[in-house]
Amino acid sequence: MYDFCTRYVGDESTFLWKTDASLTPFTDSSSDTLARLLSEIQGGSSSLSRNDACQLLLCDNDVLPELLAAARSSKERFKPGVVTYSRKVFIPLTNLCRDYCGYCIFRRDPGQPGAHTMTPDEVLEVVRKGEKLGCTEALFSLGDKPELLFPEMRETLRHLGYHSTLHYLEAMCELVLRQTTLLPHPNPGLLNTVWVRRLAEVSPSMGLMLETTNSDLLRPGAAHDNAPDKVPAKRLRTIEEAGKQGVPFTTGLLIGIGESREDRVDTLLAIRDLHRRYGHIQEVIIQNFRVKPGIRMQHWTEPSHGDMLRTIAVSRLLMPEVNIQAPPNLSAPYYDDLLDAGINDWGGVSPLTPDFINPERPWPHLEQLRARTESKGYKLEQRLPIYPEFIPQILLRPSLLAERVQAAANPQGLARRAA
Ligand code: SF4
Repeated sequence: MYDFCTRYVGDESTFLWKTDASLTPFTDSSSDTLARLLSEIQGGSSSLSRNDACQLLLCDNDVLPELLAAARSSKERFKPGVVTYSRKVFIPLTNLCRDYCGYCIFRRDPGQPGAHTMTPDEVLEVVRKGEKLGCTEALFSLGDKPELLFPEMRETLRHLGYHSTLHYLEAMCELVLRQTTLLPHPNPGLLNTVWVRRLAEVSPSMGLMLETTNSDLLRPGAAHDNAPDKVPAKRLRTIEEAGKQGVPFTTGLLIGIGESREDRVDTLLAIRDLHRRYGHIQEVIIQNFRVKPGIRMQHWTEPSHGDMLRTIAVSRLLMPEVNIQAPPNLSAPYYDDLLDAGINDWGGVSPLTPDFINPERPWPHLEQLRARTESKGYKLEQRLPIYPEFIPQILLRPSLLAERVQAAANPQGLARRAA
């Protein structure tokens, strides 16, 4: 049994995600106590409390091997012998964005070098090239509601024939679905009830990084200063709406942006709480902040490799039956260590398009990814943007989407076109 319950506290502007346990001071656990707890977890006779999780995020190096062993055993009970990835093309539909996150190199204002909104022909060209390379996912990434801030974007949308960026995204997802074999997976930003429903008609899964439940990061100078779409309560509401509608959903943490270890645990617990209520979280991404020139946070300290391993392992132990993913390019050259911490997925990897969010960090060659995964004793399998266990619910209702998912999936629910 878990020893806390979660709840919302405060209105949107002062949102805090709290747990009852968070209201009491942490108790310090010795290395021996943590090692004993990990051995009990491995034996299945115990589970992780919030306090334990916070302690493990800070555990000494002498406890780390036992933490990793417990996480790896947990992964093996969940999905034995296999690690997956999604072969994708990355479609930066528009890099105009009304938010100004301190770590973002992707966003542009109109007129800035590189500012661009893709045309339908450009979208199709990328997707068709990806098709030839065995890709099965079209990942749409875009800035949040740029038309609310920029008249130039309103004009672009008017020229294209759409009222809003979300209308345009919906049309491009449908275009990909109708004219190609790739399955769209949009990362659309905040959505209301209607837009969750509309996008779910044209994509089998979608995503929104929760990043953190710490609303203090919205303060001046912090990572989410001048980023109105990063209010945690709003993001939780979008994820919850997807849950109510049964939409397979990807979310996750961005670590190293000013949050505390306790914030990380609370963010994981918030995701777990939503998954327990709705069963729709198909994947939790643990993403590490990387410094890059040109961002507001370019002088910040990055989270360490050890920090990343601890966070993944704790995520695995808190959510033993949820897919846990970490991007290999953000931990290169030591990315295969992440397998020791209990991930079961590498996320989207593209043989064609760069990681536009971290352009300085190229994805590993797929053959190298396969070799590194196999050297750790796992088989690398190509999945679709929707995970196998969520496919049956899409197939229940006859639709173009169901037809396309059925055609793309093999009998195990992985990619039929796996190369
Ligand atoms: S991270 Fe997303 S929301 Fe934030 S500035 Fe970049 S594109 Fe906009």
